[in-house]
Amino acid sequence: MGLDFQELSTLAQKYSQPEYRARQLFEAIYSQRLDSLDSISTLPKQFRAALKHEGVEIGLPRKEKSFQSSDGTIRYLFAMADGETVETVWMPEGDGGEAGDGSEAGDTDWKRATICVSSQVGCAVNCQFCLTALLGIKRNLSAGEIAGQAIAVLNDRGADLERQRINIVFMGMGEPFLNYAPFMKSARLLVEGVGFPESRMTVSTSGIIPRIRDFGDEPVRPKLAISLNAPNDEVRNRIMPINKKWNLELLMQAAREFPLRNRERITFEYVLLNGVNDQTGHAREVIELVRGVRCKVNLIALNPGPGIDFETPEESAVRTFQSLLVRAGVPAFIRRPRGRDIYAACGQGQRQRAGPGLSWHCRRVLWPWAVG
Ligand code: SAH
Ligand code: SF4
Repeated sequence: MGLDFQELSTLAQKYSQPEYRARQLFEAIYSQRLDSLDSISTLPKQFRAALKHEGVEIGLPRKEKSFQSSDGTIRYLFAMADGETVETVWMPEGDGGEAGDGSEAGDTDWKRATICVSSQVGCAVNCQFCLTALLGIKRNLSAGEIAGQAIAVLNDRGADLERQRINIVFMGMGEPFLNYAPFMKSARLLVEGVGFPESRMTVSTSGIIPRIRDFGDEPVRPKLAISLNAPNDEVRNRIMPINKKWNLELLMQAAREFPLRNRERITFEYVLLNGVNDQTGHAREVIELVRGVRCKVNLIALNPGPGIDFETPEESAVRTFQSLLVRAGVPAFIRRPRGRDIYAACGQGQRQRAGPGLSWHCRRVLWPWAVG
């Protein structure tokens, strides 16, 4: 898992196999999503035995635990070969899925879904509202470990990419642009091997400027989301220390210069923190900031957690913020929190949390008003 076609060709050559074995391996691993060499029946037994003898296996991440939310969201804990674990989230969205009341829950009643994958074990960026930040950074994930999460979830859910509309978001634990090459390789494997259209994949970055530029030059790439989260440098320095390295001026310049494809938009994520960045004046600053960028704004009311010293704003503040943006011509959506009761929602990736987490919060806050 994680080898591209070229690398599989080299592997086949090493075992004196004909060239077409590489294609068979590539298809078995990524397109058929087989989970062991034994199940690749197109390969000669001897070749399989020789590979296994040298300790070669397909190497999918192993599902260690999973938690199912009342809204149908499933949070997976995947173990890698060295025992490190990361979180991956499955968010089914049945046709009535926007209700936000869990009515879309259920194993068979879905046609669309989103898989949220992690790119690192922990994160070094240290945003003050994010639970993953509390872990610090343990290590990068390899391309195989990133793509493998998506493949393992597809298999666990028995998903069929031809009949179902499945999106991938690189928005789990970690900063993908601080693990750039493996992240990009995993994206290519998901496009070229597994069969996800580029247009159904989105990567989110906290704003690693040089990598935003590299990303724009990629021939095959997901869509871009940027975690804006603040209306000005003063607030952003406080809640996202990365802003001291690359400030808003640099960030917005990179966004304006980013080469968008036909009909593509940049998504700006904006986590609303009560009293900190959610006031009407802040909305006006955001409108000025994003002027000149073909974009939309995804508003996310803070998902709270232990050790996070911010509060979730009132529903009315979120709605007001949204309508100010919309009235100024900036498309703005409110991201409905998913799986809060199992700690699966944005910024809640924190692998030590073994149990289903605190369900009190989700019970108290139902968000039937959230759309987008
Ligand atoms: N590291 C990348 C991607 C992972 S975080 C990034 O920061 O963009 C994905 C999104 O979750 C980001 O937009 C981030 O701002 C948001 N987020 C983090 N903690 C959150 C929290 N406690 N509540 C709501 N959203 C949060
Ligand atoms: Fe890292 Fe993103 Fe969390 Fe910031 S919001 S600490 S960049 S995972």
